[in-house]
Amino acid sequence: MIEKKPEWLKLKIRDNKNDNTRRILNKYDLNTVCNEAACPNQFECFNRGTATFLILGKNCTRNCTFCNISKYPPEIVNDDEPRLVAMAVKELKLNHVVITSVTRDDLEDGGASQFANTILEIKRINTNITIEVLIPDFQGNEKALEKVIDAQPDIINHNVETTKELYSLIRPMAIYNQSLKLLKDIKKSSDTVYTKSGFMLGLGENDKQVCELLRDLRDVGCDILTIGQYLQPSKLHYPIVEYLHPDKFKEYEIKAYKLGFKYVASNPLVRSSYRAEDGLLNLK
Ligand code: SF4
Ligand code: SF4
Repeated sequence: MIEKKPEWLKLKIRDNKNDNTRRILNKYDLNTVCNEAACPNQFECFNRGTATFLILGKNCTRNCTFCNISKYPPEIVNDDEPRLVAMAVKELKLNHVVITSVTRDDLEDGGASQFANTILEIKRINTNITIEVLIPDFQGNEKALEKVIDAQPDIINHNVETTKELYSLIRPMAIYNQSLKLLKDIKKSSDTVYTKSGFMLGLGENDKQVCELLRDLRDVGCDILTIGQYLQPSKLHYPIVEYLHPDKFKEYEIKAYKLGFKYVASNPLVRSSYRAEDGLLNLK
């Protein structure tokens, strides 16, 4: 039986009275992963004026057992969404924006053109902004990936989420080597874009498996890494196997830097997009 949630994971729930971020997101009728995934950092991020936009609808075509995003049916793609996101980014006065999507295996290019259009539209109406996209694997479709790279975001993130051994339990519709190949292909195609990935701890992985995962990510040239504690969104989701102490996260951070990652955020409450701008500001 898993022990009670430790102190370091208990966040004080605070009432966000001056919720300008939420107002702007509602105004443009946009989705955020902050809301859909019930992220524990919402108070802090929204108050700092950052949010992670979720494009291509709210429903995912995959069935990852850890994830709180709704599953099926996929929604009709809104061609105006790139413009709306760009307008919201401007109104929020963001310096760094993160765009992600549900996985759209039903679309021919997996939604890559919507990512590309969103990047281009943000650049068109916003100056001095850095753009990070957190993309799905496009089922290995290299042409789809090229569309995103050609739009020249600053960071392309693709999360491996867990160790190779746990893929069938955690990401049953994804392929570990395909995710690594995608990160490698980005580096092959562009020498300006930074690559980023992330994974969760507490799903039952062991130390050896995590070290192998760190090496695999460095072998494909991954620059930026995030590591956080898995938190079970509901009783229907994959159970938490253990809570790892912050010291263990620090240990992996040190290991990752030794392997050559340029920036590592490793802490129980870290999420892929948590303080994402720090990744660019603090590159080693
Ligand atoms: Fe959630 Fe992404 Fe998996 Fe879809 S592919 S269920 S959004 S983690
Ligand atoms: Fe949103 Fe990311 Fe912040 Fe969570 S960590 S609230 S997903 S921006």
